[in-house]
Amino acid sequence: MLIEERLKELKDKINEKVPSGITVSDVEFEGPELVIYTDDPKKFADEADLIKILARDLRKRIVVRPNVLEDPDRAIGEIKAVVPENAGITDIFFDADTGEVIIEAEKPGVVIGKNGITLREITKHIGWTPKVVRTPPIESSTVKQVRQYLRSVNEERKIFLRTIGRRIHRDVTSKDQWVRVTMLGCCREVGRAAFLLTTPESRVLIDCGEKPDSNNSTPYLYVPEIHPLSQLDAVVLTHAHLDHCALVPLLYKYGYDGPVYSTPPTRDLSAMLQLDYLDVIHKEDRKIPYSSNEVKTYIKHSITLNYGNVTDIAPDIKLTFHNAGHILGSAIAHFHIGEGLYNIAFTGDFNYSKSRLFNPATANFPRLEALFMESTYGGSDMMQPARSDAEEKLYETINIVLSRGGKVIIPAFAVGRSQEVMLALEEGMRKEKIPNVKIYLDGMIKEATAIHTTYPEYLNSELRNLIFKEGMNPFLSENFVAVDSSDLRERVMNGDPCVIITTSGMMNGGPVMEYLSNLAGDERNALVFVGYQADGTLGRRIQKGWREVPLGRGRTIVINLEIVTVDGFSGHSDRRQLMNYVGQVQPRPEKIFTIHGDENNTIDLASSLYKRYHIQTHSPMNLETYRMV
Ligand SMILES: [Zn+2]
Repeated sequence: MLIEERLKELKDKINEKVPSGITVSDVEFEGPELVIYTDDPKKFADEADLIKILARDLRKRIVVRPNVLEDPDRAIGEIKAVVPENAGITDIFFDADTGEVIIEAEKPGVVIGKNGITLREITKHIGWTPKVVRTPPIESSTVKQVRQYLRSVNEERKIFLRTIGRRIHRDVTSKDQWVRVTMLGCCREVGRAAFLLTTPESRVLIDCGEKPDSNNSTPYLYVPEIHPLSQLDAVVLTHAHLDHCALVPLLYKYGYDGPVYSTPPTRDLSAMLQLDYLDVIHKEDRKIPYSSNEVKTYIKHSITLNYGNVTDIAPDIKLTFHNAGHILGSAIAHFHIGEGLYNIAFTGDFNYSKSRLFNPATANFPRLEALFMESTYGGSDMMQPARSDAEEKLYETINIVLSRGGKVIIPAFAVGRSQEVMLALEEGMRKEKIPNVKIYLDGMIKEATAIHTTYPEYLNSELRNLIFKEGMNPFLSENFVAVDSSDLRERVMNGDPCVIITTSGMMNGGPVMEYLSNLAGDERNALVFVGYQADGTLGRRIQKGWREVPLGRGRTIVINLEIVTVDGFSGHSDRRQLMNYVGQVQPRPEKIFTIHGDENNTIDLASSLYKRYHIQTHSPMNLETYRMV
């Protein structure tokens, strides 16, 4: 059936369901959504459940948009007339691409009104669909820039979304039914995640990362089955760490022009980390894989989905994101293929225990036949201490180092570990378990933290309560000081005992190198590892006991400072949690693929899972292709 005919059929169905008096002038696929254009947005808004009913019956994500959107300046006036003053509106921005007006307020509840009455009132007056968000306590320049940029390319995006919408809803032509997954990286190794999911109809790439500090740092993107890139239906990002997202902009350089699906925090965090990645490479005189223009192109093509939204991304594939508990916005990507043909989930990196920031990863899926799970800590001896023990050890180390007049350097990923450690330190100081000293944040950590405060709905309920009900936002503690100039960095290095949390987490570049070269000689100081150190990184070498390390350009430094590893802060599941996860996951999968782990660990986990659960397991190798069905 031609797409025009299908749209006409949908329009007829919608017309049957809407009460008389409401006109549906047009329906159009825009990205994964079905957009209903109407002259009567006010009447649509009056029918509180109509959109829900249409979405359920048509099995589509529905958006209603007025044919004519009110002029934003006039709309602002009308919003302010309807919303009570005490809501504390701090910003109003219009997203013409979704027809949404985002109202940022200190008290979102007041903007929404009882049972959403004020919100419906707003819709009636202005036509735009109001969406209410809480004013973030720390302004993020990344979020601001991303939003501004998306507004500036609004017209192009509209055309893009219509093209994608029609591509997603094209006819299924093949009579064959099969599902394959090709491993383009991240097998029997950590890093350069990239998996190609193919059916006779569609091709989807899951993640496209780099491998830190390695000669084989990119996935096998040159193999024929992924080309031409313009034939890919979608790229799906599990989370914003560079070993999963660094090379997404590169795809656009080589001809990809389709969408990248992720959660909203993943989009913002990955843009931030990709730009920082380019900056680090530039400073090290390495070959730059793409420019900031390609990062913009990626943002222009991004489509964000919240957890739990079932979304068509190809004629025969539905995608749903579920909480992975690893970092802000991290997701387990679940694919439903065909009309109930097959279901695959890719965990990405996941944490099956509760952390200070997140709930444990989701273990319930509507259906599941194959599970691709990370095995970073898959080895039989890779148990992590409980989080509370890890925090005690960190406090103890800090107490010792500070009392001998030293400084504590904590290399950490800007996103994830840093915020976990920040929250532990803030509580340690508030409860007087450690002395009240300054905690300096260097690299992208301050900005990453600001993005966390922009998306509180992605944090766990306890932290949200602390912030919103008790008005105690630990991220706003006065102990945290962002190092925003080389001048201040200099003063920190020469100053009083303190704690420094800085990037990069595995010491392959970033400001941590400067702290190390200045502070490594003094045995009163300590270098405290709180995260996984991949093979081949400087962090791993120092952890293994190297006491003289190259710093590039022929320089070496001698390590006199104390080296401490505090396990237990990881955003990954440890061996016990990985095993438990498979025991708990519902429904029980038929096949498990252990990926994203050093060779021994993926093999060990695969064989242990088979022994305990009698589920078929594989520890695939790069470039292998498995037929699922
Ligand atoms: Zn990760």
